[in-house]
Amino acid sequence: MDKIAQLQQLIDQSRHIVFFGGAGVSTESNIPDFRSSDGIYSVELGRHFTAEQLVSHTMFERYPQEFFDFYKQYLLYPDARPNAAHTYLAALEKAGKLKAVVTQNIDSLHEMAGSQKVLKLHGSADRNFCLGCQRFYDLQAFLALPGTVPHCLDCGSIVKPDVTLYEEPLDMEVFRQAAQAIHKADLLIIGGTSLVVYPAASLIQYIAGRHLVVINKTSIPQDSQADLVIEGRIGEVFSQLSAP
Ligand code: NAD
Ligand code: ZN
Repeated sequence: MDKIAQLQQLIDQSRHIVFFGGAGVSTESNIPDFRSSDGIYSVELGRHFTAEQLVSHTMFERYPQEFFDFYKQYLLYPDARPNAAHTYLAALEKAGKLKAVVTQNIDSLHEMAGSQKVLKLHGSADRNFCLGCQRFYDLQAFLALPGTVPHCLDCGSIVKPDVTLYEEPLDMEVFRQAAQAIHKADLLIIGGTSLVVYPAASLIQYIAGRHLVVINKTSIPQDSQADLVIEGRIGEVFSQLSAP
C-alpha cells in the first residue's frame, strides 16, 4: 500500500484526530517559515541580529524600532489565504473526526479556513493590545497605526502584538488544553514543524494514542517514533486524500 493510502486508512479508522503544526503549514500560502532554506532565517538581514534575537522580548524592550521593522516585514502577511492543508483540516473537523488543531503559527489561516478549535501556542498576530490602556487593535487597525513603532491612538503607549516572543512564557491555559487534546488523540498528525522550539515541542510527550503520523518536507527527530512518515508538502499530501 502506498503512503497516501496508508494515511487515508489511518484517518478513516480514527475518531479523535489531533493535528499539531507549525510554520510549514503556511508556506504553501506564501508565508515563509523560519528554518527552510528559503525561510526567514536564511534571509540576508544585513544586521548584527539573528531572526531569533529580533523577535525576542529584549529586542522589543530595548530596540523597538528594529523589532517592529522586522516583525512587520517578515512576520505579517495580511493578504495570505488558507491553502489545501488548512481547508482539509477544517473539513475533517466539520466531519466530526478532528478534535483540535494545535499550532505554533501566529497567522489566522486555520480560522479563516473554518477551523473552530484552534489552540494557538504562540498567540495571534490578529490581536494587539495597548500596554497603557489595553485598547484592542486587530491586524488591520494595528497596521494602520502611523510610524514603525505603533503607538495607541488613545493614550500614546506602545501597542504590543499578542504573540509569544522568545524569552516570554507561553499561555499556560492554551498549553494545558493542547496537552490534553494530544493526550486524548487516537491519531496525532504532526506536520510542517521542525519541532525545535520549546516548550511547544515538549507537547509530544503527552502522546498516549495509538498512531503518530509525520508529514514534513524534511526529516525531524520524531520520525523515528512515527507509524508513518511522509516527506512532502503538506497541502499537496492532503489534496490527494478523499474529502472527509
Ligand atoms: P520552522 O521554520 O522551524 O520549521 C518549519 C518546518 O516545516 C521545517 O521542518 C520545514 O522543512 C517544514 N516545511 C516547510 N514547508 C512545508 C510544507 N509545505 N509541507 C510540509 N513541511 C514543510 O517552524 P516551526 O517549527 O513552526 O517553528 C518556528 C517558530 O516560528 C514557531 O514558533 C512559529 O510561531 C514562528 N513562525 C510562525 C509563522 C506563521 O505564523 N505562519 C511563520 C514563521 C515562523
Ligand atoms: Zn492606549
